[in-house]
Amino acid sequence: MVNRKVNFNPGPAAIPLEVLKIAQEELLDFQNSGMSILETSHRAKEFEAVNDAAIALVHELFGLGSDYHVLFVGGGASMQFALVPMNFANDQTVAYIDTGEFANKAMKEAQAVAKVHVAFSSKEEKYRRVPKMNEIKFPQDAAYLHLCTNNTIEGTQFWELPDTGNVPLIADMSSDIASRRIDFKKFSLIYAGAQKNLGPAGVALVIVRDDFLAKAKKTLPVIMNYKTYADNKSLYNTPPVFAVYIMKLVLEWIKGKGGLAGVEKINEAKKNLLYGAIDANADYYKGAADKACRSWMNVTLRLPTEELENKFIADAKSEGLLGIKGHRSVGGIRVSMYNAVSLEAIRVLTDFMKQFHKKN
Ligand SMILES: *Cc1c(COP(=O)(O)O)cnc(C)c1O
Repeated sequence: MVNRKVNFNPGPAAIPLEVLKIAQEELLDFQNSGMSILETSHRAKEFEAVNDAAIALVHELFGLGSDYHVLFVGGGASMQFALVPMNFANDQTVAYIDTGEFANKAMKEAQAVAKVHVAFSSKEEKYRRVPKMNEIKFPQDAAYLHLCTNNTIEGTQFWELPDTGNVPLIADMSSDIASRRIDFKKFSLIYAGAQKNLGPAGVALVIVRDDFLAKAKKTLPVIMNYKTYADNKSLYNTPPVFAVYIMKLVLEWIKGKGGLAGVEKINEAKKNLLYGAIDANADYYKGAADKACRSWMNVTLRLPTEELENKFIADAKSEGLLGIKGHRSVGGIRVSMYNAVSLEAIRVLTDFMKQFHKKN
């Protein structure tokens, strides 16, 4: 038996053990093909079946209509920060909601190629919150409004979505994709790096509605044009085959949990347990994010002193609880509990928190 630790890494993050075991089993001989999927042509029927299944699973689990294309784009979420404005700014103003370091990075990439309107920013408040809907202001002729549904570093999440009228809504869902039910129809484009909730690094899931895709700039290099991916089932060039394969296994695992409704229920129990433990000792464990917009995926907290925080991280490590050091830009503690982190793991953590508080 291998000794697996409790993994709260922010990304790359925990992958379901069941998925890793299937991948291990199939690694040397993928479905009697006599070779690994890593060694198989992306044009071979074996990989094509994996690719098709992954696309179909996204459609099924997210309840997408046939008017959405599902794309797998190499290069992660940061690549989408650039590709989105390149494809869709079209010499119009683009609007961005600035609620965290990643949202801000996305906005900076847009500034390189377009005129950016800041629709809201909580930067001055140290990104402790996301906006109330009536605080979001943007021009009605903007090419799109971009937001980040879950702010991975700061631990905040949108629990309400703006009604944008005719302005297309775009979201970076890297750290909460497939973790809850959401009204996907509200979005013209969604993207997510896979390494938090969907599998390994190296690929981004992009979901785009066809009427919006039709507006993409025609003069881009083909490899940067979303239409190239849509027209070729993301097989225009060699895709990150292993990342797509693992993503397909993760999607099947989510389906086995009862789909998005199923994982949402587990994630709700997890967040109740952890925030409950924080709020029960609010003079000791202080949640860093505004309560109204707490994230279910990334829980940020502070202890009374930095010294105690360092001890907390070190003691947790010796108990086999890993990956809880806060991002270097905010400090403190961050517990990332994506889909693959079990309720049992949170129970172990909250027990540890009680013990640590008693002793320190
Ligand atoms: C991790 C993350 C990113 C960056 O993803 P890369 O794959 O490293 O480019 C972007 N946005 C959000 C919300 C993230 O959590």
